[in-house]
Amino acid sequence: MTVPRTATFVISIDVEMSWGAVHHGRPHDASPYRLEREVVARTLALMERHGISATWAVVGHLFLAECTAAAGSHPHPEIVRPEYPWLPDDWYDLDPVSNAAAAPTWYGPDLVDAIRACPVPQEIGSHSFGHVIAGDPGCGPEAFRTDLAAARALAEAEGLALRSFVYPRNSIGHLDVLAAAGFTSYRSPTPDRFPGITGWRRRATTLVDTVRPLATATFQPVVRGTLVDIPQTYLFDPDSKRARRLGTMAWSLAVRRRLRHAVRTSSLFHMWFHSHNLAAAPERAFRAMDAVFAEARRHMDAGRLENLTMGAVAERWQESHAPRG
Ligand SMILES: [Zn+2]
Repeated sequence: MTVPRTATFVISIDVEMSWGAVHHGRPHDASPYRLEREVVARTLALMERHGISATWAVVGHLFLAECTAAAGSHPHPEIVRPEYPWLPDDWYDLDPVSNAAAAPTWYGPDLVDAIRACPVPQEIGSHSFGHVIAGDPGCGPEAFRTDLAAARALAEAEGLALRSFVYPRNSIGHLDVLAAAGFTSYRSPTPDRFPGITGWRRRATTLVDTVRPLATATFQPVVRGTLVDIPQTYLFDPDSKRARRLGTMAWSLAVRRRLRHAVRTSSLFHMWFHSHNLAAAPERAFRAMDAVFAEARRHMDAGRLENLTMGAVAERWQESHAPRG
């Protein structure tokens, strides 16, 4: 594997609004998503200020301004339904079959427009059409294929070719179907930083690593056929217990230590979050994010760090693996 000379900074953001929570089996509460548009706008403003690009993994249904259904039937009949033992109802039973004005957390073409309008180029990726759980055995290949086809068709109508994929609930499945649908990269869950270390040694190592990330635990994207697997390495969650306990600036320093660790070891720092993670504690989120982006910008200007979208990582890593001739 060709080791890059500089570190790589990837950001991926899951944009799902109500689709991310509706199948959790509780009465649906849309209130956490009411701040979504404001949070996306503030994130984009910070990215513009520091010249930072991200991959925005948008649920395909949010591309729609409205949807309809024939009398007595479910919406989106062209999509084969997954059959999960834990969900007796149709996957789209909870779809409000309405429009963005009446049900703003289910439709969001304005969000897609806002991301595309950012003067610093941003990538629109996919988080599936209906937030289906691909790695669950109840989701067969046809269910996943037809879901992806629906997401692709909507994006193509907007002149967008989807290349990068974030699996809902990070549940990986049907990689062959993903590749056949034209995707070139996906995000995988955070790898084990300390494989083979167990018991008290693991607890001690993890504690030390929290304070000063250990040089041994580094990650890089991995080429898997026509796909590039880009593991997530840091969940940016301003409402986590740790962030609340540390306070904003100490927590931001903890994030920046991960970034510095990647810079020191020329490895991957892949920060990810849902837009509603920021909505849960927006003031802490944006102060910390401003500090992280400012530091990333300094490393970038010094030639030690490259900020790439998932799509750009896929291109770069495939090129470095192309047969020489
Ligand atoms: Zn719908």
